Amino acid sequence: MSLDFDTAVIGAGAVGLACAAVLSSRGRSVVILEADSAIARHGTARNSEVIHASIYYPAGSLKARLCRRGCDLVYARAQARGIPHRRTGKLVVAAGDDEVPRLAALHDAARANGVPQLEMIDAATLHRIEPDVSGVAALSSPVTGIVDAHALALSYLAEAEENGAALLIEHRVTELAREREAWRVVVRVGEGGDEQSVRCSEVVNAAGMGAHEVAASAGIDIDREGLRVHLCKGDYFALAPGAPVSLGQLIYPVGSAEGAGLGVHATLDLAGRIRFGPDATYVDAPDYTVAAAKAPAFAEAVRRYLPAIEDDWLTPDFAGLRTKLAGPGEGFRDFEIREESAQGLPGLVNCIGIESPGLTASGAIAEYMADRLDAR
Ligand SMILES: Cc1cc2nc3c(=O)[nH]c(=O)nc-3n(C[C@H](O)[C@H](O)[C@H](O)COP(=O)(O)OP(=O)(O)OC[C@H]3O[C@@H](n4cnc5c(N)ncnc54)[C@H](O)[C@@H]3O)c2cc1C
Repeated sequence: MSLDFDTAVIGAGAVGLACAAVLSSRGRSVVILEADSAIARHGTARNSEVIHASIYYPAGSLKARLCRRGCDLVYARAQARGIPHRRTGKLVVAAGDDEVPRLAALHDAARANGVPQLEMIDAATLHRIEPDVSGVAALSSPVTGIVDAHALALSYLAEAEENGAALLIEHRVTELAREREAWRVVVRVGEGGDEQSVRCSEVVNAAGMGAHEVAASAGIDIDREGLRVHLCKGDYFALAPGAPVSLGQLIYPVGSAEGAGLGVHATLDLAGRIRFGPDATYVDAPDYTVAAAKAPAFAEAVRRYLPAIEDDWLTPDFAGLRTKLAGPGEGFRDFEIREESAQGLPGLVNCIGIESPGLTASGAIAEYMADRLDAR
């Protein structure tokens, strides 16, 4: 059977585009199939844009390994391709003595993950570095930073296109069919448009919040395999211009081991603006509204480490949707990056549950995924 491409990559977020860049650099002809009318409009557009160092994840997990490697790759790529970024550094702050044991546990976890340059600092040092921040101790991670997520995604697309890859927007994948030892990827073109198909020998499913549905369309029992994606919304509030607070670094609370996120933290964007978020609420359907009425709850969470914050200094900013494999109250779930030969579906790699630190890890996820395909 003649093939249209070696590999179809489904989804043009940071992960799919990084996969297209790596696969095309390894000599494959690649088509990227994107449902939306532009790249990187979903998870990749709605996040904290933090280059994570790999502080939080269990040692040996894919999240830990691919975040650590991905962090180095993002900095190297940003340097090489002129992607706006800044090595801001990050402080995880213990607001009271009761949080110090958890801070120490984070320090141990981060060291086990190979995060360099970590340092525990006391209250006086914290006050000297960040006079507006209050706490009894902090874990300093100088390698943590921020990146322009859209520019990062564009750089992956540019590399893929330099290698001959093609991007097809408004091509929503509706079915993956295994036919005569190849894949027929069925796509719907535009809203209510024609159905077409692409034939290829490999498929990479990087469809973000749609990834479990794409996997199901190939015949995978996503509930038996634990691959159903749960949406967990995170809202952000911006600090009003002129509010008398300044920060040099990203400030995170210690948070709890059980929470669905890292706790409402303070991040900087590349223009130096401060925003707070995200909180964590499971939702049944995509929803990007941010209720102004939440400002007092956000301000209260932030006052634990920035005591001067007043409720009316916060204005609704934006929301993002985590694509979590863990449902409400469930424990840690790792990224799922699986080549599906064992399911009788050779050449299909599913990337599911690529929540944070997926932006940081994108380049490393792509390498890992391509290694799985090369090894089969
Ligand atoms: C609130 C929040 C904060 C975060 N903060 C950080 C952070 O600071 N640092 C960090 O490293 N990570 C962070 N993340 C995680 C990061 O944003 C994601 O891991 C990353 O963007 C995932 O990229 P993706 O390409 O997998 O998904 P997406 O960017 O969502 O891309 C998936 C693409 O697939 C397309 N698609 C879906 N279904 C189909 C289909 N059937 N056919 C064709 N195309 C389809 C979609 O249109 C979309 O373009 C955060 C996430 C959230 C929600």
